Amino acid sequence: MQGKMMSQPLIVSSIMEHAERFHGSTEIVSRTVEGRVHRYTYAEAHKRAKQGANALQKLGVELGSRVATLAWNNHRHFELYYAISGMGAITHTVNPRLFPEQVSWIVNDAQDQVLCFDTSFASLVESIAPQCPSVKYWVAMTDRDHMPDVRVPNLICYEDLIASEPEEFTWPQLDENTASSLCYTSGTTGNPKGVLYSHRSTLLHALSSSNPDALNLSGQDVVLPVVPMFHVNAWGLPYSAPLAGAKLVLPCDGMDGASLYELFENEGVTFSAGVPTVWLGVLQHLRSNNLKLSSVKRMIVGGSACPPALMQSFRQEYNVRIQHAWGMTEMSPLGTVNTPKAKHRALTEEERFELEIKQGRPPFGVDLKIVDDHGNELPRDGKTSGDLLVRGHWVIDQYYNKEDSPLVDGWFPTGDVANLDADGYLQITDRSKDVIKSGGEWISSIELENIAMNHPAVAEAAALGMPHEKWDERPLLVVVKKEGLDVSSEEILAKYQGQVAKFCIPDDVVYVDEIPHTATGKVSKITLRKMLTDYRWPAPKNSGQ
Ligand code: AMP
Repeated sequence: MQGKMMSQPLIVSSIMEHAERFHGSTEIVSRTVEGRVHRYTYAEAHKRAKQGANALQKLGVELGSRVATLAWNNHRHFELYYAISGMGAITHTVNPRLFPEQVSWIVNDAQDQVLCFDTSFASLVESIAPQCPSVKYWVAMTDRDHMPDVRVPNLICYEDLIASEPEEFTWPQLDENTASSLCYTSGTTGNPKGVLYSHRSTLLHALSSSNPDALNLSGQDVVLPVVPMFHVNAWGLPYSAPLAGAKLVLPCDGMDGASLYELFENEGVTFSAGVPTVWLGVLQHLRSNNLKLSSVKRMIVGGSACPPALMQSFRQEYNVRIQHAWGMTEMSPLGTVNTPKAKHRALTEEERFELEIKQGRPPFGVDLKIVDDHGNELPRDGKTSGDLLVRGHWVIDQYYNKEDSPLVDGWFPTGDVANLDADGYLQITDRSKDVIKSGGEWISSIELENIAMNHPAVAEAAALGMPHEKWDERPLLVVVKKEGLDVSSEEILAKYQGQVAKFCIPDDVVYVDEIPHTATGKVSKITLRKMLTDYRWPAPKNSGQ
């Protein structure tokens, strides 16, 4: 027997319909590439999204067409999210930080029909246009006065494009499994792979991620996503903020400490989200200018492991709660968020901190398990590490344009190594390819990095397994010192005594001016290894194994 309830498809356009009707006067504030701060409301954004849909239709965009964006977090990008997906086409967010050859490869793989770009990327667009024959129109996301001098066929000004279009558009009641957006993984090895989200997966992700034990968003929040809209849909915030009725603040290309601080204070931001390097920049700005945060209450940190020292500094010096979260492009991206349970009220401060530095527990909709090399499930004891597998409503089933299934017995192998405890708290100990394998033992590079970053003179640290005659690999620590501070290797290595087993202590420390990062803000261990190809261990080491 079927239930007798309405069956409404879970589609992206329903979010904006809700936001316009029930949060119509709530603001979206956006920095722009033209330099000014733009403000309008959800009601106005919805109208412009409809104008955008009418305009795209005239350009031949239809159900299933791919429309690419090369853009920062700003109001025009937000409108395009809804204009493109709402009409049944696919919003393909391309990461402009990738090399031009990777960008054109991705555009060709997706066969994008229209490409909308912020004018900051005009020269990138000009260089890739000849290699991208599928793109019929290049739309500069600006007004007539700021049109770039860029030689591409069929260049259109975004504001001109939508200006004369009607503010009415009836969003199609799509099948909820229709594709809504496309995002390529950063592709540090081989070519990038496309992850094709559906309206249903996006809606369920937005609903679940705004719950109290996830991002905890409400109509009282002012949300500033620092995580780019070209990186896993800014962790879903352009969907979950309007769904919750939160005010949205978009930083455009101003992701440095000073620009973010200005927006935090001027707009009363309560909640923000980004990768650890962003928060390190904010912390530095706050400290060196002796500033306080008056409205920010919570920050979500994910994308790579949050150094515990960063979490502690924000808590103790600025009364801001940093919540650790873990996810990946293939998971839309939310996998876990760190929130306590009622039973944790009894913990001491130290015990609570031990829990908080973990990556958190999954909301309903995500299932996790860890397995050994033979696929056998490992105990959830908070100690045993294994390969992390996931499944759920917003987890990938198949990559775009690929025949093979990435799944193993219905589970997606994340490539991360982790432990799980009996309460479902996940602790990522490594990417499987970054684990340091020394004399048959596994050493967590993340653990080594966290200890080093706890030293007051260390700005950033990365641990690598370097080839070793006797032990196969031994840990090498690469350190960037804080400006104006000095520290010896002995002093840094002394930090490890009593914190890790003796065999885990790095054998040597190398100092560099900068640690390379990938296009999504993670430490690029591949580039780091290339930088260290001439490295040799100083002398035979007594590693303690
Ligand atoms: P991406 O698909 O670019 O978002 O990268 C996903 C990968 O980033 C994951 O598989 C992890 O290796 C890493 N990652 C994301 N969040 C965290 C975190 N909180 N701690 C450690 N690694 C993380």
